Amino acid sequence: MIELKDISVSFGKGESRFHAVKDVSLQINTGEIFGIVGPSGAGKSTLVRVMNLLQQPTQGQILIDGEDITQAKGAKLRQIRKNMGMIFQHFNLISGATVFENVAFALTANGYPKEKQRARVEELLKMVGLSEKIDVYPASLSGGQKQRVAIARALANTPKILLCDEATSALDLESTEEVLSILHRIKENSNITIVFITHDLDAAKKLFDRIAVMSEGQIVEVNDTYSIFSNPVHPVTQMLVNRNFELDVPDFVADAVQADEELYKIYYVGQRAYDPVINEVAKRYDVEVSILHGKIDYIHRQALGILVVKVKGQDAVRQAAVAYMKEHVYRLEKLK
Ligand code: ADP
Repeated sequence: MIELKDISVSFGKGESRFHAVKDVSLQINTGEIFGIVGPSGAGKSTLVRVMNLLQQPTQGQILIDGEDITQAKGAKLRQIRKNMGMIFQHFNLISGATVFENVAFALTANGYPKEKQRARVEELLKMVGLSEKIDVYPASLSGGQKQRVAIARALANTPKILLCDEATSALDLESTEEVLSILHRIKENSNITIVFITHDLDAAKKLFDRIAVMSEGQIVEVNDTYSIFSNPVHPVTQMLVNRNFELDVPDFVADAVQADEELYKIYYVGQRAYDPVINEVAKRYDVEVSILHGKIDYIHRQALGILVVKVKGQDAVRQAAVAYMKEHVYRLEKLK
């Protein structure tokens, strides 16, 4: 387990002092894929670099499996880092070295016997589906393939934790899918803990078990992935989720709403269909309900449906109809 206790990180001094991470406490369980999402500049990268002490915190403690590592130095620090692989947005491969050499480099750095390195690298490349690329140079690989080499390198010394800093943000959709499914498989086949930071909520939706939302240096919400998407609580989470669902109503539609009309966003979960509710409301109350927008998303195989509807009718009747809908759907949110 990774525990962060009251972590703060500041840069600079005096007037120009900047608080990148403010009093963050977090527990990440062994074997989970934990995501940290948030707008760029939120402090995600700084926070993840604190975990392997690439960034020393200004305040607070880092505990790994109960052991306080905050002040670790020298051999102790090397041992800790051996147990934490890391991958980055831009792969950080050595361009003048072959794929084999890039991965073997991590083995050499940790004293892995030279004569066994080829076999170990072959094993790692097989795991990321790149066996045939062992002797090529990174320049001849696609972005997704480069990231897979970086994963092989990060896992060379069988770390207990893998830190991923925007690891899919430079990749196209297809390569992103590949990398996410490799990480998922690695997690299924081992008890590795994966901490993944990203501003990409599509990646988050597909991979993460739990999500922490970070904004302006603070963690504003932590929950399981389905709950973050189906019931976002903090305004920043709501903004990120809404943007991801692409269900913002265009201004010209919102501006055209009449005095006897209101816009609502309806969330329904699981296999529960929305049709009966909409039909039932129209039958029971003297209102018109028109669907403006809608989609179903699947998060960890669970369906999450979202509809944007316009309800038209006299005030009191409309309120009664909305109250009925609210009772019969998972969540209902009034749009301005
Ligand atoms: P994110 O990963 O969420 O985009 P970062 O952790 O990279 O955010 O950065 C958070 C804030 O801290 C940013 O405003 C960034 O400019 C600042 N920052 C990060 N590293 C340093 C540094 N070494 N010196 C000064 N400011 C930094």
